[in-house]
Amino acid sequence: MKNISFKLAGSFFILTFIIEAILFAALYTSIVNTRITEEIHALQGRGNSHRAVLEKHFDKKTIEHVALMETEADTNVIITDDKRNVLAQSAAGDMTEHLHFEERSIPRSGTALQSHWKTSKYICTISPIMKGRDTVGYVFMYLETSSIKGLVQNITNRFFASFGLTAFLTVAAIYLLSRFLARPIIMIKESAEKMTNGQDNISLNIKRNDELGELAASIENLSSNLNRLQKERNDFLSSVAHELRTPITYIKGYSDIAMRDQFDVNARHQYLSIIKEETDNLTLLVDDLFLLTKLKQPGFHIEKKPVHLHTLVEKEIRKSQIAFLEKRIGLSYHIPLNLTVSIDEKRFSQVITNLLNNARHYSESDTEVTITASASKDRIIITVADEGCGIPEDEQDYIFERFYRIDKSRSRQTGGTGMGLAIVKEIVEHHGGEIMVKNRHPKGSKFIITLPA
Ligand code: ADP
Repeated sequence: MKNISFKLAGSFFILTFIIEAILFAALYTSIVNTRITEEIHALQGRGNSHRAVLEKHFDKKTIEHVALMETEADTNVIITDDKRNVLAQSAAGDMTEHLHFEERSIPRSGTALQSHWKTSKYICTISPIMKGRDTVGYVFMYLETSSIKGLVQNITNRFFASFGLTAFLTVAAIYLLSRFLARPIIMIKESAEKMTNGQDNISLNIKRNDELGELAASIENLSSNLNRLQKERNDFLSSVAHELRTPITYIKGYSDIAMRDQFDVNARHQYLSIIKEETDNLTLLVDDLFLLTKLKQPGFHIEKKPVHLHTLVEKEIRKSQIAFLEKRIGLSYHIPLNLTVSIDEKRFSQVITNLLNNARHYSESDTEVTITASASKDRIIITVADEGCGIPEDEQDYIFERFYRIDKSRSRQTGGTGMGLAIVKEIVEHHGGEIMVKNRHPKGSKFIITLPA
């Protein structure tokens, strides 16, 4: 019983079968008991009416007449005197055992002496014949239990037939219902298996307004997300392979040349410096890759604490100052002295470093790079603006993607890995903020970071 529709149908059936069986048994018992009670009352009523006649005329002729009348009926009668000696009897048979049943007080309306229809041959009632306050005789009425058993058998047969029909209809209804419920579950299970085997773009085509419909929609969503993730992973791997190929080709090429004997020390030194430079690039690339992967992990957390922004920017400027001086690019900052922001200091320093490095790389000499910050009630805005080459508007959305570069060869010259801005964006978003870029007039670009206050 592996199939869920069988399991559902089986459990439903057992449950409903038990409930139906209990209900049927209760109904059956109640109907049979009612019928038996009715039979006993009818028998007693018949005895009472004989008794009424005999109370008026308790003589031999009437007694025999009453007995004679009963011979034509299904019931039998025995009329006795007060000592229970038989005066008349409608049919021969072994009915006399009831005559001496001890009944302490027999009500005037009579009573049942024997009602055990299952075990006894007759059911029997007694009605006292009274003259004034004295009992002068008794009317015993008998009904053979075989007729009651026949009646009960009839009821039993009908009950079995109805129970069988109900059980059949229940099984059919439960089977259809469980199929209706189980079919989408089976389809979903098959789709999940297909997804595990690598099939993409699963479409379930289950249009329902209930939880199963929602589950189907979630599976379809999951499938398309999985697709997207697979595609992203493949793109990422081929980008990494591509990024690694260039420095490795350089390293291999120059080490082959450096190993040849025909070159003097100076030439060999030059080749070895190129190899070192490329190795540094590789190290940078691997470090950035490692950091970005770490930032993208679901469990990654930044540790925010209040940081004096002026001091942080000042420190960053001091670190970059020499490189800016070498390229003759001015570097200034305007940060309110009282501004404290809640950030992860180490990670946010990385943001400023990356933006300053980019500003330096993509600016010419005799230009100016400026960092500013301002705070309003609900947010803090930090900008890094340069007077460099700027970023074409149609590329502004893409520069935050990993490995995206506007000018590949230029980025290589500057030693960029193409991941600086992706890392910046990731860190800013971990702070609950966002980053965008705008072009400046007449030239340059401005990176704007918005953080929640
Ligand atoms: P890279 O390591 O190549 O600098 P980034 O992710 O830091 O990678 O930047 C992505 C691309 O965005 C760069 O290749 C460059 O083309 C462009 N870019 C980034 N910052 C600037 C800037 N300040 N001025 C002009 N272009 C920029």
